[in-house]
Amino acid sequence: MKLKDPTLLEHRAYINGAWIEGERTFDVLNPATGDKIAAVTDLTVDDIRAAIDAAHAAKPAWAALTGKERAGYLRRWYDLMVENADDLATILTAEMGKPWPEARGEILYGASFIEWFAEEAKRVYGDTIPGHQRDKRIIVMKQPVGVVGSITPWNFPNAMIARKVAPALAAGCTFVARPAELTPLSALAMAVLAERAGIPAGVFNVIPCADAAAAGAELCANEKIAKITFTGSTRVGRILMRQCADTIKKMSLELGGNAPFIVFDDANLDAAVEGATIAKYRNNGQTCVCANRIYVQSRVYDAFAEKLKAKVLALKVGDGFENGVSVGPLISPQALVKVEDHIADAVAKGAKVIAGGNRSNLGATFFEPTVMTGVTQAMKVAHEETFGPVAPLIRFESEDEVIAMANDSEFGLAGYFFARDLARVFRVAEALETGMVGVNTGLISTEVAPFGGIKQSGLGREGSKYGIEDYLEIKYLCLGGI
Ligand code: ADP
Repeated sequence: MKLKDPTLLEHRAYINGAWIEGERTFDVLNPATGDKIAAVTDLTVDDIRAAIDAAHAAKPAWAALTGKERAGYLRRWYDLMVENADDLATILTAEMGKPWPEARGEILYGASFIEWFAEEAKRVYGDTIPGHQRDKRIIVMKQPVGVVGSITPWNFPNAMIARKVAPALAAGCTFVARPAELTPLSALAMAVLAERAGIPAGVFNVIPCADAAAAGAELCANEKIAKITFTGSTRVGRILMRQCADTIKKMSLELGGNAPFIVFDDANLDAAVEGATIAKYRNNGQTCVCANRIYVQSRVYDAFAEKLKAKVLALKVGDGFENGVSVGPLISPQALVKVEDHIADAVAKGAKVIAGGNRSNLGATFFEPTVMTGVTQAMKVAHEETFGPVAPLIRFESEDEVIAMANDSEFGLAGYFFARDLARVFRVAEALETGMVGVNTGLISTEVAPFGGIKQSGLGREGSKYGIEDYLEIKYLCLGGI
């Protein structure tokens, strides 16, 4: 790995402003090649407790700063992330696999949350409420919730942490981040830059730990942690929620999705194909807002399938460091098993593969971008998140029918549709049971908008003016005797 600044590649934990070399380590591998990139410190539960203690001790002084002062630290951190975007992207591609330009995009996307919440730090407004008695006045103030523990996945090793730590620090919380064991290096590089930005010791801690369950159990049980923020599967979200019950922690959960992508027959078909390609194959299908089920109205079904097939066959698969690659490896050889299982299940029930469908000969983690026709609601792909490069095309006739199919899911994260009729656009946007709807676009994530799901896709929102509220408590003062 060639870095302009090799000190960004850090293998030690970052606790209380110090770099901690543990006794044990775990290996981080490049998913494209299987090569070992680093041996990262593997913290014990005692170390994790020390990090929580540090964050707890740092909290009063950090919370006491003005919003503008906290904004200054965050702004410096943002500037350093942008200045070092190339190196951060290189570390990210090496440990996660996504094509380097996409990795660089993630770094800037992650940094944009730090910029945004640096700005929002100054705008944490309270309220005055007209008193309910003549001698009373009522004031509402917002205060930081306290120490936040985060658990994040491997698919966005930088941005998933940035989206959480930025509003937390802006609000006056301190933070303990447990990055995914597959991708801790991006998180540690963020800590290197946080230290350079002068963020005080204990405010941001990164605790690599190979044993996810042990780290999670400590974060959830520890009374010094006021809130858990998690992005990952609904399965693990449920475990964390149960574990947080004993101490009634606040929780933000960004969980699984099963995004419907609907193409109506009045849609601009080329735009719909473009949108579907982005929504499906970005990050090799490994995002929680990836289109998982593509519903196409009968009259345009065949034409859409042909156009999508042509587009998909033109995608270049390869190592994320190679020029012109738009689809990298999947995160692990096991990830391919699920992809193959979904395809086999669909084919056994009558679907037809019209593009891809097989492992690629590039290596154990590479799979051909795939399109299937003749898919029905009875197949696994319609109900489970594939998290891979498979586009299943399901035919539908009417608006009511497709809305019923789209909403037939316990998930409710993102939904997309392409249509031009204005009345239809409003009807469908209102009817979709998802927290986010992309209308005539396959790309919806931005720091200025509230990202989050309904149903079993989670709790809370990240980004936008709403995002900071997840890290604030409301306190009401009743002033009497006036
Ligand atoms: P994904 O399929 O995206 O990996 P997971 O929910 O399995 O989703 O993982 C998301 C994050 O949660 C990862 O960092 C993983 O290590 C962590 N994790 C997995 N199991 C647990 C658990 N029992 N407690 C806490 N964290 C966990």
